[in-house]
Amino acid sequence: MLTRRALFKIISTLGFSAMLPGKIFGEHMSVLSSISQRRDLTLDGEGATPLTIQTLDELLDSVDCMELAERYGSFEKVGGYLGGFLARICLFCSAGKLYVHPNDFRCDKCEAAGTTLDFFARMEGITDEEAMQRLAVLVKCGSLHRRGNEQKVLWGIMSEASRYYHHILCETKEGEPGRDWLKKHGVTAGMREELYLGYFPRCRNGIQTELIEHLVGQGHESDIVQSAILPHGHPGIVLPIGDAQGHWWGLLKRSLGSEEETLYYSNFLGMQRLAPRLCKKLASRCGTHPGALANTAMMYDPPDDYEYVSA
Ligand SMILES: [Zn+2]
Repeated sequence: MLTRRALFKIISTLGFSAMLPGKIFGEHMSVLSSISQRRDLTLDGEGATPLTIQTLDELLDSVDCMELAERYGSFEKVGGYLGGFLARICLFCSAGKLYVHPNDFRCDKCEAAGTTLDFFARMEGITDEEAMQRLAVLVKCGSLHRRGNEQKVLWGIMSEASRYYHHILCETKEGEPGRDWLKKHGVTAGMREELYLGYFPRCRNGIQTELIEHLVGQGHESDIVQSAILPHGHPGIVLPIGDAQGHWWGLLKRSLGSEEETLYYSNFLGMQRLAPRLCKKLASRCGTHPGALANTAMMYDPPDDYEYVSA
């Protein structure tokens, strides 16, 4: 088991400080051990843990506003998987055009606009509190399942990608530059396992077609794998980003060599769409562009005995 101090040191070495799972999504460092336990379950093919809804944020992240809206009428579909939305004559004023996006809605004529919760409360003529309770029931009993299913697909892709990069780092010749770099920076094999670090190898045009083919071969739909936005570019060390429930949302890559300072967060867009509130917590920690991560390193609650060292 990693000590808190050792953990901070590695994370700092990698330049990932602002991205500590415990820092982003949980209150306590113990989150890390629960993540690694649940990760094993997921990797064994037992699927993600059952959805538990504890807060309004989690509830709203669990509902696709478009799926909810389609229960009240037929819509015209506009756009593709990422950035797609629905449109029709407004359900409230019957005059303007109502636009429904994955996480909100608005009419271009009347004042109707807001979150998924506002939409439901308005359609049913109930209070926000009643709407929250009834939405939670609809999600739990599976009547609203699209968002949950999409999230599970994404977690599956990110979990498998993490396993793939970890395998490259630990067990292949391709991973040698990564192992050497970590060794040089004092990251032991035990720490590597604890954080489930991986290596993104040098590949043609910076795109790893082998992994994409591997994921498609595992039964994931090709266009979903393409839109999951996996790491690309220069070789580097990869850190999977998980939440307190043990779900995998994306990967952070620290490029090595000439692009040493570059930090790259994969799947930011997908997460923004499928879990906007969770994603916002992440963004508020690291600024809106991944490069900001390096600058915020160690700003967040370092352990009392941590000695600041410049790189
Ligand atoms: Zn309207």
